[in-house]
Amino acid sequence: MPPAPDAALHGLTILERGWLSSNNVLLHDDDGAAWLVDSSHVLHGAQTVALLRQALRGTPLMGIVNTHLHSDHCGGNAAVQRAFGCTITVPPGQWAAVQAWDEQALSYRPTGQRCERFVADAFLQPGQSLQIGGHRWWALAAPGHDPHSIVLFDDHQGVLISADALWENGFGVVFPELEGEAAFDEVAQVLDLIESLDARWVVPGHGAPFDDVAGALQRARRRLDGFRADPARHLRHGAKVLVKYHLLEERQQPWSAFLAWFTEVDLCRSIWHGLGRPEGSLAGFAERLVDELVATGALDRRDDLLLDA
Ligand SMILES: [Zn+2]
Repeated sequence: MPPAPDAALHGLTILERGWLSSNNVLLHDDDGAAWLVDSSHVLHGAQTVALLRQALRGTPLMGIVNTHLHSDHCGGNAAVQRAFGCTITVPPGQWAAVQAWDEQALSYRPTGQRCERFVADAFLQPGQSLQIGGHRWWALAAPGHDPHSIVLFDDHQGVLISADALWENGFGVVFPELEGEAAFDEVAQVLDLIESLDARWVVPGHGAPFDDVAGALQRARRRLDGFRADPARHLRHGAKVLVKYHLLEERQQPWSAFLAWFTEVDLCRSIWHGLGRPEGSLAGFAERLVDELVATGALDRRDDLLLDA
C-alpha cells in the first residue's frame, strides 16, 4: 500500500502505471486547468487518453511537460496532443533532435524501441520554473540515467517529481554507460542533489509516491556502489532491461524475429562488446540472457516462441 498522500500532494493527480508506461502526473491549477508530466508508452496511448479524460473531468489540459524523452515517458505525447490540443514542452538538450525527429539522438533507434513522432512547442531550462496552482515547480538537471533528463521540484511543499533519477528501490539503467560513456559520477551527483533538496515526498517515474526519501537514497547509493565495483553487472542488467522492455512492447515474438531485433540493436551490440563478447557471438549472448530471464520468471519460452511472462 502506498503511504496516504498528505497536503503536500494536494493539486496533483498521480496515475500510477507499469514498467512499459511511465506514471502520469497531472498538476492542477486553481482555475481547474492542468498540466501533464510525462505521457507513457505509445502502445498505451488510448488508455492514457481515457485515464486523463476521467481525471480531468472536463477541465482543459494545457500542456505536457516531459522529464525526458525515453519511449516510456513520451510515447503518448502525440495521442494526448491529438485528444486535448495541448502544447508539448521538452528538455532543452533534445529540442533540436525532436524538431528534426532524429531517432538516433532520441534513442529509439539505438534501443530498438518505438515512439510516435510529435512536435514540441517549447523547452524548459534547468533553473526555470512553472507556477501551477499552489506549486512552483523548478526544473533541475538530472543527468545519469539520461543525459538530458530534468526533474521537477516544489521547494515550498517539498515535492520532487524524480522521473527515473530516483525510485523507491533504485533508479533507471544508466544508459550512457551501456555505450561506454562514464556516467556513474553523474548518478552520484544527482543523488547528492536530491539529498540536498530535503524533499518530503518523491513522485517517481515508475511506482507509487514515497516519503522515506532518506531510505530510497540509501538503497540507490548501495545499488550504484555495486555497479561501480562491478560495471559488467550493470551492463548485463542493462541488456536484460532492454530485452524485457522489448518483450513488453511485442508481447510475444518468434525466436528468429527476436534474434533479428537483438542483433540489429546498437545498444545490445555495444553491451556485448563492453562485456568482452561473451558466448562468442551476439546470438549466443542473446540466448544466455533469455535463459536467465526465463529462469527468473521474467520471460517465457515455448518451442520457437518467446513471450512476456
Ligand atoms: Zn527513462
